[in-house]
Amino acid sequence: MGKSESQMDIMEKSNKPGKHRWTATEIGLFVLLMLVSCALAGLVVLYTSAAKERSNASSVSRSTAGQLLQSSLNPVCTTADCVTAAARLLQNMDTSVKPCDNFYQYACGGWLERHVIPETSSRHSVFDILRDKLEIVLKGVLETESEQDRDAIRKAKVLYSSCMNEREAWNLEDTLATLTARFHKKVLLDMYVWTDDRDSRRHIIYIDQPSLGMPSRDYYLNDGNYKKVREAYLQFMVSIAKITREDRNLTQDDERLWEEMTQVLELETDIANATSPAEERQDVTVLYNKMTIGELQNTFNFNGFNWTRYIQGVLSCVSIDVLLEEEVVVYSSPYLEKMNDVLPKHSVRSAYRHDGASKMHRTLQQLTPANVPSQNYAELPHVAAHCRQGQQLESGVSKMPEPATGSINDLCPQTLYGTTAEDAWWRECVRYVQSSMENAVGALYVRETFAGESKQMVSDLIRKIQKAYVETLEELRWMDGPSKEKAREKAMAIKEHIGYPDHILQERNQKLDQEYAHLNFSEEHYFENILENLRCEAHKSLKKLREPVDPDMWIIGAAVVNAFYSPNRNQIVFPAGILQPPFFSKHQHQALNFGGIGMVIGHEITHGFDDNGRNFDKDGNMLNWWSNYSAEHFKEQSQCMVQQYGNFNWKLAGGQNVSGALSHITGVSVLSLFFRVWSLWLQVSGISTLGENIADNGGVRQAYKAYLKWVETEGEEPRLPGLDMDHKQLFFLNFAQVSERNAKFNLWQIKNKAISNRLTCIQVWCGAYRPEYASQSIKTDSHSPLEYRVFGSLQNFEAFSEAFQCPKGSAMNPELKCRVW
Ligand SMILES: [Zn+2]
Repeated sequence: MGKSESQMDIMEKSNKPGKHRWTATEIGLFVLLMLVSCALAGLVVLYTSAAKERSNASSVSRSTAGQLLQSSLNPVCTTADCVTAAARLLQNMDTSVKPCDNFYQYACGGWLERHVIPETSSRHSVFDILRDKLEIVLKGVLETESEQDRDAIRKAKVLYSSCMNEREAWNLEDTLATLTARFHKKVLLDMYVWTDDRDSRRHIIYIDQPSLGMPSRDYYLNDGNYKKVREAYLQFMVSIAKITREDRNLTQDDERLWEEMTQVLELETDIANATSPAEERQDVTVLYNKMTIGELQNTFNFNGFNWTRYIQGVLSCVSIDVLLEEEVVVYSSPYLEKMNDVLPKHSVRSAYRHDGASKMHRTLQQLTPANVPSQNYAELPHVAAHCRQGQQLESGVSKMPEPATGSINDLCPQTLYGTTAEDAWWRECVRYVQSSMENAVGALYVRETFAGESKQMVSDLIRKIQKAYVETLEELRWMDGPSKEKAREKAMAIKEHIGYPDHILQERNQKLDQEYAHLNFSEEHYFENILENLRCEAHKSLKKLREPVDPDMWIIGAAVVNAFYSPNRNQIVFPAGILQPPFFSKHQHQALNFGGIGMVIGHEITHGFDDNGRNFDKDGNMLNWWSNYSAEHFKEQSQCMVQQYGNFNWKLAGGQNVSGALSHITGVSVLSLFFRVWSLWLQVSGISTLGENIADNGGVRQAYKAYLKWVETEGEEPRLPGLDMDHKQLFFLNFAQVSERNAKFNLWQIKNKAISNRLTCIQVWCGAYRPEYASQSIKTDSHSPLEYRVFGSLQNFEAFSEAFQCPKGSAMNPELKCRVW
C-alpha cells in the first residue's frame, strides 16, 4: 500500500533540522512568534465557544442570537434543527442548474428526481406528503377508543368505524327512494344559502348554475382524453339505468336504453354548454344580481318553471316559508337565459330521465367517502372518483349486467387523472370523517400534535406581514392617496383564525357536542350514516337563512394542511395542519419561516386585494371603495400579469392533450387540433389564474420585506451547514420549495358553492403532476402550475435577482417586470 499524497507532502516539507546555534535575534523572533501563536490560539478558542453559544442561542432566543450574530465572522449553525433543515433544503435542490436560469429546477430539481409519483396519485408534492402524514395521525386517533371520549368525539369514531366496516349490505331501491325524498340534488339549478355579498351580516338565497356531472364543461364538448371519459360516463349511466330497471323487474331493451341515455347525455351537454366557463365568472360584481322571487319568475320563466314552489320546496325541510317578496341573488343570469332555449328542445320525458339518471349518478358520488379532498382529485368537483362506492354498488347488486362491468372503472381516477392504483381504504375513511366532522376530528388532531405556543408566534408573524403590506402601499405609484388609505384600513381590519377554535378543546364547553347533537351513527350502517350526514349538512346550511352571520364561526377545520382568505368575512385562516415544518417551526430559521408560512400569510392577505377580493370592503361587503383612477390602473397592472403568465406554456398538459387527441382524432383537422392546444395553453394562466398570481407576487414581496425588517432588529442568522447561501438566498429557496394551490373545489363539494367562489388556498412544495391530471387541473384549478408560480413571482421581484446576482436579461431577471401590490 503506497503512501497517500498528503503523507508524501508532509514528509517532503518537514526539513530535518541540522545542528545549529541560535543567534540573539533568532531567539527574540522565536519568543515573539510564540506570543503571537498563543494569542491566535486564544482567539480560536474564544471564537469556537462564541459560535457554539450562538448556535444554541439561535434555537432558544432570537434576540440574543441576533446580537451575537452582528459579528462578521459568518458563523455556521450546527444544531440538530439547522442540520435537519439544511439537509431537507439540499436534498430538494439541483445545484447543476444555475439559479438565474431556472430557479424552480435549481430549488426543486433534486426533489423531482428523488420522487416517483405514487401509483395512487396524480400529483405528488411535499404538500401531499404532509397530508399523508396528517392522515396517519388521524387514523391513529380515530382508531383509539377511550372511556373519556365526549359525545362529538365518540360519534366521529363511530362514523369512522362504520366506514371501515364493509360488512353491510344495503338495498339500492330503498336507498334511492330515501335519497330522492329526503335530499335535494342540484341538477338543473343550484340553490344555496350564504352570506349576502352586499350585506355581510345577513344570509340570502343564491341561485346559480349547477356543477356538472363531469369535472368541467370541456369533458362534454372536447375530444381527446375528455372523450374517453365521456364514453365511460355514458356507459355508467346505462349501467345504472339497467340496475334500476332490473331491480324493479322491468323489461330490458339494451338498444333503447342506450338511445335514451344518449339523449340524456345530450341534454346534459346542452346544460354544460349553457353554463358559463370559469374565465367568464371572475367578476363578482357582474355575477351578482339581486331580485325578488316574483321578479325571478317574470325574468326567467323557462318552460313555465314555478320558482316559488321550487324554493319553498327546498326550504320546507327547515320549516322556512318564503313569499314572492323574498330576495334572492341570481349568480348566473346568462345560464338562466340560455336555459330558456335548452329546455323546450328536450322532451319532458328526457328531462325526466336526465333528472333521474343524473340524480342517481350524483347521489352515488355524494355517497362516497372519496367525495372529500384528496391529493388526486382535490380540485375535482364531481365525476366519479368514486370507484369504491361504484364497486360496492356492483357487488351490492349481484344482478349487475355484464356489459357494464368496467364502465365504472373507466370513470375512476385511473382514466381521469392517470393514477394506476387506488388509495388505501382507511385513507378514504379518514378523509370522509375529517370533512364531515371537522371540529370533532380537529380536536383529536390538535390534542395529538399541535404545539399551543405556535399560535402566538404565527399571530406575531401576521402582524409583521400586515405591516409590510401597508408599507408596500407607499411604494405604489399607480394608486392614489384616498384608495391607499382605504386599502390600509382593510388590511388592518383583517381578522385571523389560527390553529383551531378554542371551544373544541374546552371540556366543559358544550358547543362541540351540540354541533353533532342531531347525528346518530351506527357502526353497522355506514350507508345510513352518510344519509344522516347529508341531511344534517343540508339542514344546517339552509336554516341559516333566517339567522345572522356568526363572525366567529370557523370556515374550515383544524386538521387541514391549508390556509384561507374569505372576502365576505375579511378573514384569514391558518389551520393547525399547516403550522408545521417546513412551513413553520419555532425551531427553524426565520428565513425559512418567513419564506414558508410568511409567504402564505402574505398570499392570503393579498387575496383581499386581488381581482376578486378588491370588490369587498373591510367589513366584507361588496362595495366599491376605489377611485376611478386607482381602479383603472389596477386593471392595467393586472393585465401585465395576465400576459406574462399567458406566455407560459405548460408542455405537460399540452403534450398530453396532443397525444391523447391524436389517438382519437383521425377525422379532425390539424387546424382544429392547433386551436385546441392553443386554447389549452391560454388556459394555463390567462384570466382565471389572475387572482392567485397576484396573491403569489404580493405574498413573496411582503414576506421578504417583513423578513428584512426582522433581520434589521434581530441580526442575520447563522448560515446553514453545507449550504453556501446567505440568509436572503435561504428565504427564496424555501419560498420556491413552497408554492401555493387552492382548496376551491374541495369546498365546492364539502361546503357549498358560495364559499368556494371566494376562498383560497394552500401551499405546495416542489411537486410533480401526471399528464392526465395536468390537463384536468389546467381546466379546473385557479392556480398556475407550480413551476410557473415560482417563475412568475420571482421574475417580477428585483430583490430575488439581487440576492442571486442574476444578470439583466437572464431567464429569472427579464427586463419587463409586472407588479400589482
Ligand atoms: Zn391563493
